[in-house]
Amino acid sequence: MARTVFSERGETVRLDSISTGPPKGITKGKARQRFAALGAEMFELQDAMFGAKVNSAMVVLQGRDSAGKDGTIKHVVGCLNPRGVNVVSFGVPTLEERQHDFLWRVHRHAPRIGEFSIFNRSHYEDVLVVRVHGLVPRKLWKERYDHIADFEELLAEHGTIVLKYFLHISRKEQKERLLERERTPQTAWKLNVNDWKERDRWDEYTEAYEDAISKTAARHAPWTVVPADKKWYRNLVVAESIAEALREHRKGWKSTLEEMGRKRRAELAAYRAERAAKKKG
Ligand code: AMP
Ligand code: MG
Repeated sequence: MARTVFSERGETVRLDSISTGPPKGITKGKARQRFAALGAEMFELQDAMFGAKVNSAMVVLQGRDSAGKDGTIKHVVGCLNPRGVNVVSFGVPTLEERQHDFLWRVHRHAPRIGEFSIFNRSHYEDVLVVRVHGLVPRKLWKERYDHIADFEELLAEHGTIVLKYFLHISRKEQKERLLERERTPQTAWKLNVNDWKERDRWDEYTEAYEDAISKTAARHAPWTVVPADKKWYRNLVVAESIAEALREHRKGWKSTLEEMGRKRRAELAAYRAERAAKKKG
């Protein structure tokens, strides 16, 4: 699988040296087949996580405009049981949100035990768009990397599996997607002049993303750079990564569930015995 994972703080991140396309030799058909298998596996693992109530999962999706955050949610989350999933999009902060610290709006949506939170954009916007546009003084956003790292560590200590994805598209692919969006009547509503304005700041965003990834990557909160020029490959990489992270917990969750099952059975047996004794007496 051609994905680059960063799980150490301070690692050098050079996005230009990471491919935005799938590796040679992998076909769309094969990828789709594998994706279907992963979807079923994720569903089963999610069910175990939901029942066991020892972990939760927070999936952060970041990327430039048209990188495929919504598409990833549609496909990957589509494999899960909606009962235990909370999808949240973070846009320009509201007045109330601006009246709090930058993590306030995010922390409220951290997953409940057993559940998934999927973030379309996240607290990372506060070191991305905010940095690129100088929306707060430099000193303030610079301090945020530490705040973010501490926040994610706190979540991890509470059993949250933190997974962060940068959907990596090329400048050329973004242009094609934005033009396609404009050409297609059904998608033209998504058009936003800002997408083109942000595109003009491509290199500044690259730098901001590289810093965000490098300064907040951790073993308990890894960043995965996902080659996202091909949607079918992007979906596969994200699904593979989520399944892999959950899989590590399968044994633990299953034994918790078995233990719970034994306890419940014993309770029921005790109740029946008590009832039978009463009848006799
Ligand atoms: P979209 O994802 O197309 O719905 O757009 C959401 C917009 O909200 C993007 O342009 C983001 O850059 C912007 N946004 C998200 N979080 C923040 C933030 N903390 N400060 C300023 N703008 C933000
Ligand atoms: Mg947009």
